[in-house]
Amino acid sequence: MSKQIPAFCGGKPVRDTKLFYGHQYIDEADIQAVTDVLKSDYLTCGPKIGELEEKLCRITGAKYAVACSNGTAALHIACLAAGIEPGDEVITTPVTFAASANCALYCGARPVFADIHEDTYNIDPKSVEDRVNGKTKAVVAVDFTGQSAELDELQDICRNHKLVLIEDGAHVIGTKYKGRANGSIADMTTFSFHPVKTVTGGEGGAVLTNHEEYYRKLMLYRTHGITRDTALMEHEPDGSWYYEQVDLGYNYRMTDMQAALVISQLDKLQMFSERRKKIVARYNEAFSGLPQIAVQREIPESDTTRHLYILRLVLEKLKIGRKEFFDALWAENICCNVHYIPVYYFPYYQKLGYEKGSCPKAEKLYEEIISLPLYYAMTDKDVEDVILAVTKVAEYYSL
Ligand SMILES: *Cc1c(COP(=O)(O)O)cnc(C)c1O
Repeated sequence: MSKQIPAFCGGKPVRDTKLFYGHQYIDEADIQAVTDVLKSDYLTCGPKIGELEEKLCRITGAKYAVACSNGTAALHIACLAAGIEPGDEVITTPVTFAASANCALYCGARPVFADIHEDTYNIDPKSVEDRVNGKTKAVVAVDFTGQSAELDELQDICRNHKLVLIEDGAHVIGTKYKGRANGSIADMTTFSFHPVKTVTGGEGGAVLTNHEEYYRKLMLYRTHGITRDTALMEHEPDGSWYYEQVDLGYNYRMTDMQAALVISQLDKLQMFSERRKKIVARYNEAFSGLPQIAVQREIPESDTTRHLYILRLVLEKLKIGRKEFFDALWAENICCNVHYIPVYYFPYYQKLGYEKGSCPKAEKLYEEIISLPLYYAMTDKDVEDVILAVTKVAEYYSL
């Protein structure tokens, strides 16, 4: 991997303007929805929250949904509802955003990292099974890039060992696993509505579940552990103003402006999903012809709405490494990114005693990947520019 090679291939860049890896799509209906809330009586805890929760249930088939401030808060209250406590272990993948593991730390538990399948990049149920011991309480499975994790296999493991299956579905909205929408399958599924995700509220998140017990707890943890439900109270109400704090919760509420935006965005989910699928199909078609590129394997069980497109380099066929390939794409104005640095590489995790080498397939993946632009508002020309740039760099540095 020569350092002398410049981080670009010469000639004119494939395009003059920068193309980023993700971007939200906001239309007039979205703007109107938010404006309507601003003119209404409720900016938070108003009618839009319930409306969003109903809509999420309708879309996914889940019985209950709890909207909250972001996807990280959703993971935190899901872990609390699962009863995760100090001394427990929670198994997750290192190929994810830090929040998928941090949620265990928030509860005083220890995240344990399982390795991935080398070709789908999702958590490998066999590796999960290997990591289960008497302390294990839950599995946080991430649907990496939007492709569903192998939920049936994971659910079997969880049933056999009495573990809670939490699906970090930050990438997965719009995907179906064996014909069922993700969100209605695991014990709890969390969504994120950050602007890079398929559907946005600026910030926002939700937990979906079919279990009433979890639902009640999620509602409590979202709002300080406070309830107005007399069935949950210790004492007789002093009067109709009365409420009780019966547990320690947080302020993880979503505003009505955010809820209105997510509701309006969900009207476009089908459209977003179709466009993303088209772009992914076009990328796959173009890159499967390049020996320098490996295409992510898709499992037939997942009808995938892709949140991320991962370009995996075949380094044996290239004169350069991932860093140089990445810089060369930027020089073409293709502003790619990398998802993800293995979580346990971070100094915070290293200080907690995690060591490199525990998930070799995930670590190898990290050396070889680049996230390409993928979002609804990309034009066909944008997509072809990305393909041109990748082809240009791959062929220029081909071995
Ligand atoms: C975005 C993301 C989160 C966190 O969601 P926020 O809404 O940003 O808090 C968690 N897990 C994964 C896999 C994500 O991509």
